[in-house]
Amino acid sequence: MTEEKTVGKELSEKLSYESKSASKLFSKEEKEAAFAFAEPYKRFLDASKTEREAVKTTLKMAKDHGYEEFSYEKTYRPGDKIYSINRGKAIILAQIGKKSLEEGVGIIASHIDSPRIDLKPNPLVETDQIAYLKTHYYGGIKKYQWPTVPLALHGVVVLASGEVKEICIGEEESDPLFYITDLLPHLAQDQMTKKASEVISGERLNILVGSLPLEEDIEAKDAVKLNVLRLLNEKYGMVEEDFLSAELTLVPAMKARDIGLDRSLIGAYGHDDRVCAFPSLAAMLETENPAYTSVLVLTDKEEIGSSGNTGLNTNYLYDFLCELCKDVNPRKALQNSWCLSADVNACYDPTFAEVYDKRNSSLLNHGLVITKYTGARGKSGTSDASAEFVGKIRKLLNENHVAWQIGELGKVDQGGGGTVAQYIAKLNIDVVDLGVPVLSMHSPFEAISKLDLYSTYKGCLAFFQRV
Ligand code: MN
Ligand code: MN
Repeated sequence: MTEEKTVGKELSEKLSYESKSASKLFSKEEKEAAFAFAEPYKRFLDASKTEREAVKTTLKMAKDHGYEEFSYEKTYRPGDKIYSINRGKAIILAQIGKKSLEEGVGIIASHIDSPRIDLKPNPLVETDQIAYLKTHYYGGIKKYQWPTVPLALHGVVVLASGEVKEICIGEEESDPLFYITDLLPHLAQDQMTKKASEVISGERLNILVGSLPLEEDIEAKDAVKLNVLRLLNEKYGMVEEDFLSAELTLVPAMKARDIGLDRSLIGAYGHDDRVCAFPSLAAMLETENPAYTSVLVLTDKEEIGSSGNTGLNTNYLYDFLCELCKDVNPRKALQNSWCLSADVNACYDPTFAEVYDKRNSSLLNHGLVITKYTGARGKSGTSDASAEFVGKIRKLLNENHVAWQIGELGKVDQGGGGTVAQYIAKLNIDVVDLGVPVLSMHSPFEAISKLDLYSTYKGCLAFFQRV
């Protein structure tokens, strides 16, 4: 009896698979390193709430590490570091490897746009002596989560002259904030019987922007709206027509903060997908003289399907790679390339256990998550990574002692989603999704684990430093 039990235990250890918590795998030093790594990440988040801001922050870091603007005319040698910016909203970094480009390139792609509340093209209205900005939300949000949350206004306005004005209001302690109202519970009897998708409709996501009339003429028509226009004109030189050529967006004004008494988690707006963009960027900047040419793409528009010329369902990455391969066969380079589509996955949440298949979900603190396929309704709209390629990445991570796990996006037919992986696959490149499990994804304040963030950094580092 005793002997059988031992045999069973031994066999189980040899044959069975369970992902292990990084809290058990990590040494004390590694845990300290993970906590230290979280600090610059939080600063990156606070400085990079839109794709434009993330490009600027990234560019500064890249320049500090010796990256120079890519020029087609120049010939690059191993170790050379270059960058290329696409319309201020996406950025590619590359470091030339020792091997020929035809042996393939190591690419990591993350996105730097996040769900948010965009202004309509003609947003400013006055209703009952209150001025509002009308909005059209960007990306997949649960609309009821966004009222009564402190919001900041970010973006650019192009004036009639063509001059571009940058706007950022609500991030400094002394700044005013913006706000979407909700109904008090006392009068919400009808509202509370509605479906969650209808509790707050898209047309009710109105931003409160002013309530006092123009001092000089309080009886003027739309005096409150006029007062808002006057304030904008004084500060930015803009007039109402300038809204038509603007990209203005409302994002949560909260800063990234530690969560939990043990400070093991980080709460912030926009972890998806800066929680992959930052560790992949850190890994890129840490890498010197790689064997394979390393490429990092921080892209825009993932949250609305990667369309638009700053998203990856267009040619800009392909064009960059072709220009980089001007002296070799780019097709050969592409077909030998490896890519990590670094994006988040849904972290298993015991509070909502019913939507997950636990054994196929990513668990908090169990390290980075590899997602073989995303998609919906029978894997539609995904790049289902091959067993061979997952095998190569598995081997790479294990050899480098990276904490990792495998995960699906919830139960079959519970919903679904996609990433940029399918657009990389379209270039005839091997690609798999890899990233950080996120709690409350797409909400105004998402949560991730510091150990998972650090594991993703270690995974990206192993990928770029592959020999
Ligand atoms: Mn994402
Ligand atoms: Mn997303």
